Amino acid sequence: FAAKEAEKRGWHLYIVGGAVRDLLLSEEQEFLLLQDIDLVVDGFHRSADVGAGVELASTLQENFPNARLSIHGEFQTAALLWHKDPQLGSLWVDIATSRTEFYPYPAANPEVEASSIRQDLYRRDFTINALAVRLTPPRKGELLDFFGGMLDLRSRQIRVLHANSFIEDPTRIYRAVRFAVRLGFEIDPQTETYINYAIESGIYERLRIENHPAPALTTRLKAELKYILESYYWKPALKLLADLDALKCLHSQLILDDILWWQIRYVSRCLRYLDPENQLEHWLLRLEVLITQLDPTERSKIAVNLQLPKESLERLKKLSQIELEIKQNLLKCTQLSEIVNVLRPYRLPNLILVSVRSSCEIRRTIWEYLTKWSKIQAPLTGNDLKVMGYKPGPQYKTILDRLLNATLDGEISSRDDAEVFLK
Ligand code: ATP
Repeated sequence: FAAKEAEKRGWHLYIVGGAVRDLLLSEEQEFLLLQDIDLVVDGFHRSADVGAGVELASTLQENFPNARLSIHGEFQTAALLWHKDPQLGSLWVDIATSRTEFYPYPAANPEVEASSIRQDLYRRDFTINALAVRLTPPRKGELLDFFGGMLDLRSRQIRVLHANSFIEDPTRIYRAVRFAVRLGFEIDPQTETYINYAIESGIYERLRIENHPAPALTTRLKAELKYILESYYWKPALKLLADLDALKCLHSQLILDDILWWQIRYVSRCLRYLDPENQLEHWLLRLEVLITQLDPTERSKIAVNLQLPKESLERLKKLSQIELEIKQNLLKCTQLSEIVNVLRPYRLPNLILVSVRSSCEIRRTIWEYLTKWSKIQAPLTGNDLKVMGYKPGPQYKTILDRLLNATLDGEISSRDDAEVFLK
């Protein structure tokens, strides 16, 4: 339908990017479900029709009213979202007017101008993502491969389109790693040289220190980090990022040494066990563990830069203080009830972060607390106290706390014990 509408207007319509790549790779797979389709319109009279993509998307929406339309005026793009059934998920169709991008300075937000499909493909990250299939006549169904994408798909290479690519946009390093690991491809050696050059140039560090990165860049960087850290392949991807020294895009002192690598895996194991329903954001805690490797003053800066959520900022800000509190207070404990009372005020993510950075002994104590001691209950409840004739009120908490402490310390273990204990 979109192709027919474009044709009526004398435009060309192409399917581009990841959908083409995945379609071409799908011969290897049994089943392919496209959920994100990028379309590009061109072939118009340049100055008059820069809004072609938006016009086409609006026409589609009029004919498929169950699709939700959103328009991003700045980049002349429009997106249509279909909510499909819960099993298949939803379908996004992005429609853009073919455009070229200029980076006024490294890692800036690109400035955009309408252009031909070739130019549009040239602004993309990798050859395998710069393929297009024409959906309108003449030569409908033709594959446009200006940069050797097909060859790279066959030889399983992630190859960048031009030498400055990573200087313009560091998120492409993370994307290169993501695609390499996810698709089982290799990063082409020349591309790896460009990555090394971009990182060694120190450009990202300068931008960070000058607090200069465009907000859209940090948003994209965070999105890529999230993508990687929440994927099933986060371990090899993180290893590859570290091997490329690419964690330096976040902070020059961020190095994945053996200790940090162990810590991040330990936290992941804890989370899998203690939060099997994924109520916490596991990817975010992995990122926090990475950040905790930095000096306390740097932690907050990087967290603010990456626009991490408030609770994450708080955790990172208070971590050193909480570590100290827990360590000092645990040292004073002689009874189990005292240990439990020291740890009870802290939430699970804080305790996991503290534990992974502590001595073996403290780590074991926190683990026992999280898996066993925090689940122990007093043998009586508030209701029991009522039946026993205690007048309801704030003293209930005091009584129940005393009962719990006595249970933890092995002084009582049954309701009968509890009743005797209270007399
Ligand atoms: P995925 O299946 O992971 O979503 P994708 O290729 O569809 O992969 P998107 O992030 O949806 O990835 O991006 C769509 C297309 O936009 C890419 O195929 C690529 O051509 C282009 N693109 C995305 N991000 C960048 C970038 N930082 N620099 C250059 N081109 C990009």
